[in-house]
Amino acid sequence: MTTATALTTLIDELLLLVPALDAALHRDAGAGEDDRASASVTPSLPVNTDVLACMATLHGEVPATARWVSRLLGEPMVDRSLVGHLGHVVRWHDRLTATNAVAEAAHLVANVQRWLRSTRRVLGLSTPDRLLPEYCPTHDDPLTQLVVPGDEGWLAKVRGGYTVGWHRAEYVRCHHCGTTWTPGQYATLGRQLRDADRRRVEVAA
Ligand SMILES: [Zn+2]
Repeated sequence: MTTATALTTLIDELLLLVPALDAALHRDAGAGEDDRASASVTPSLPVNTDVLACMATLHGEVPATARWVSRLLGEPMVDRSLVGHLGHVVRWHDRLTATNAVAEAAHLVANVQRWLRSTRRVLGLSTPDRLLPEYCPTHDDPLTQLVVPGDEGWLAKVRGGYTVGWHRAEYVRCHHCGTTWTPGQYATLGRQLRDADRRRVEVAA
């Protein structure tokens, strides 16, 4: 997948999730079946604070990024909605790449990845990685603990709201070098871990 295609996918998901964020903001305040009985007892916080913090970040960082890119590209800064700005990100990336502003284009992608990560997290669409008690066998510097990536959910629009589906990760990964081992490769991983242990013991001796 080229960076541009990957970025389009990230933006498409973010554009789908931002309205869901709005709905989630008031979700906890709504009287569900269970809440109704106790609704008169304690007035709850009117909004979900994690969602609120995420929205505050987006409403701060997205226009700030738009201003930064507009200045780089010599374009006038246009006052748009959050979704309006996000709709221009792929074009900005194309123009930055075309003008050889490689570092700036990468910075833009990193911002979008961060926004999507935090949006997914507050919507409950990502569970944390599970750390394994083993270091990646392919390098000693830095020693990096292997993980089983957390589950990733996705939102599908249904009548009256959203439904969540889940991707369960079935592999081991090193976040430093990006090596992955699928269940069929776990025997190989075991051998690599034993070899790495021997190597590290020899180096230490
Ligand atoms: Zn590694």
